[in-house]
Amino acid sequence: MKPFSFSKPGSLAKLMQARKDAAQFLAGGTNLVDLMKKNIAAPGALIDISTALSDKVELTGGKLRIGAMVRNSAIATNAQVISKAPLVAKAVLAGASPQIRNMASTGGNLLQRTRCPYFYDVSTPCNKRQPGTGCSALHGENRMSAIVGYNDQCVAVHPSDLCVALAALDATVNVTNAQQKQIVIPFKDFHKLPDNSPDRDNQLPANAIITSIDIPDNPFAQHHAYVKIRDRDSYAFALISVAAALHIQGGRIADVRLASGGVAHKPGAGTKQSSS
Ligand SMILES: Cc1cc2nc3c(=O)[nH]c(=O)nc-3n(C[C@H](O)[C@H](O)[C@H](O)COP(=O)(O)OP(=O)(O)OC[C@H]3O[C@@H](n4cnc5c(N)ncnc54)[C@H](O)[C@@H]3O)c2cc1C
Repeated sequence: MKPFSFSKPGSLAKLMQARKDAAQFLAGGTNLVDLMKKNIAAPGALIDISTALSDKVELTGGKLRIGAMVRNSAIATNAQVISKAPLVAKAVLAGASPQIRNMASTGGNLLQRTRCPYFYDVSTPCNKRQPGTGCSALHGENRMSAIVGYNDQCVAVHPSDLCVALAALDATVNVTNAQQKQIVIPFKDFHKLPDNSPDRDNQLPANAIITSIDIPDNPFAQHHAYVKIRDRDSYAFALISVAAALHIQGGRIADVRLASGGVAHKPGAGTKQSSS
């Protein structure tokens, strides 16, 4: 592993001052540390954000706000999440293992990298890991690859479960950019398809930080399901997952949401919204 400096600023302002191009934020470390051990990520500096960002779930003006440092296990057991957006709690519980959920943060879950085996195998070409080298999954083992929205540069998928529920519920991502301005990115625009830059997973501006996620008030708390097909039930990434939510009024479906996971570079690709 390449040597790196380590700091743990106590506030968002200090954290943004500490951010430089060679630095990377460390939240729960459940993905980044693995990437560093394998020399896929080699930041010159690690900035621990665990004490500078919110670890609270709040209800503000009907919106559910989940701080970037709320651990996945805390999302799943939070009373407000269970009451206002139970689909999110179910999706989180379908992901990883209890130990990993205890460490994994909300922001880190959105920014986790793909689980494509070629991305992790540094002896093989991979446009996502090393742009311009090619995509080994096109002709190699590709069972967990994309089935929609891919191109000949990348067939990797985004592995998150949480993100599938956030896509279905029209979440927004609150970000502080390098100039310390607040920006709001609709969840549906946050991740991207591979295009000509499969090395980039999302539209987060350089040196920006996710501070929280908002889930709008919604009528889907009563009728919803998160279904995940995977190799083993204890824990495994999705071969495919679906978040489904219905708003039923007077015995009729007034609104429906369907979002898929594990099938595209972007979680929730092909999200369907329909009102009658
Ligand atoms: C064995 C295993 C099984 C797993 N199974 C699943 C699964 O089934 N479903 C699932 O959804 N996930 C699964 N995961 C992934 C896990 O959920 C993610 O690793 C975790 O959510 C990442 O969060 P973290 O806080 O540990 O992020 P870190 O590893 O600390 O960071 C990940 C990335 O996000 C960046 N980052 C983190 N927070 C912020 C922020 N607020 N603003 C800007 N950048 C930030 C970091 O710089 C880094 O690039 C699994 C992981 C493992 C190891």
